[in-house]
Amino acid sequence: MTEALLDIKGLRKSFGALRATDNVSLTLNPGEIHALIGPNGAGKSTLIAQVAGGLSPDAGQIVFAGADVTPLGTAARAQAGLGRTFQISALAMEFSVLQNAVLGALGAGGSVWRFFKPVMRDAELRARAEAALERVGLMEHAAKRTADLSHGQRRLLEVAVALTLEPKAFLMDEPMAGLGGEGSKRMTAFLDSLRRDAPILLVEHDMDAVFALADRISVLVYGQIIATGTAEDIRANRDVRAAYLGE
Ligand code: ADP
Ligand code: MG
Repeated sequence: MTEALLDIKGLRKSFGALRATDNVSLTLNPGEIHALIGPNGAGKSTLIAQVAGGLSPDAGQIVFAGADVTPLGTAARAQAGLGRTFQISALAMEFSVLQNAVLGALGAGGSVWRFFKPVMRDAELRARAEAALERVGLMEHAAKRTADLSHGQRRLLEVAVALTLEPKAFLMDEPMAGLGGEGSKRMTAFLDSLRRDAPILLVEHDMDAVFALADRISVLVYGQIIATGTAEDIRANRDVRAAYLGE
C-alpha cells in the first residue's frame, strides 16, 4: 500500500461546549480527490482550518509528506507544500489578475501568505504567476482588474494564486460555491486535471461535482466522520441517507 501524502489523525477542536471536530481521522493519497461532505455547521471549514494551520487543534496530529506538521504555522505549512483556497475570497479586487498571481508567488497575497519573505527575482515571480494563470486558463485576462472578472473566473484566480506556490496537495473549501452550471463544469474539469499534480481534500456542497470527481467521500456530521467510501458506498450507506441526504 502506498503511504498517504496527508494523514490526519484524531483531530479535535472545541468552541466552548461545542465539539466542532471530534476525533476526525482521514487520509489523502497521491493522485486522489477525497471529498468531505456534510450539512452546514458539521465542522468542515473548522477541519480545513486545522489542517491548513489557522486553527490549532485541541488534540490530534497532522502528518504531511512523512513529517509531523502539527506544530507548524500556516506559512510554514504552505511552504511545506500544503496549498489552500478559501470559502470566502482572499483576492485584492482593485489589483490586476496578474498582480494577484504575483502576490501569491511572492507569498504576500491573502492572509495565509503574509509572513513569507520574498526570495525570488522579479522575472521568476512573473514567470510563476503567468504559468499559474496559463494553467487555469486566465492568461488572456492577465491585465484585467480582478473586480471585473466573473465570479467563476475569480474562483479560478484563487486556485491560480495557490498554484504559484507549487503545492504538493490542496485543501479546498467549497470551490464551486456560487458558480453557475457552466462555471461548475469548468471548475470540475480543472480539478480533475489538477489531481495528477496535487491530490485534493475537497469540501463541497455540489453533489454532482462530488460524485463526478471524488475517489473517496467522507461524511462529517456534528464533528464526526460517520462514513468513508467510494461514491457507490456513500450513496448506499443508510446512516448517510438518514443523516445527510434526508431520507
Ligand atoms: P461547516 O464548514 O461544516 O459548515 P464550520 O466548521 O464552519 O462548519 O462550523 C462548525 C461549528 O463550529 C458550527 O456550529 C459553527 O457555528 C461553530 N464555529 C465555527 N467557528 C467558530 C468559532 N470561531 N467560534 C465559535 N464557534 C465556531
Ligand atoms: Mg464551511
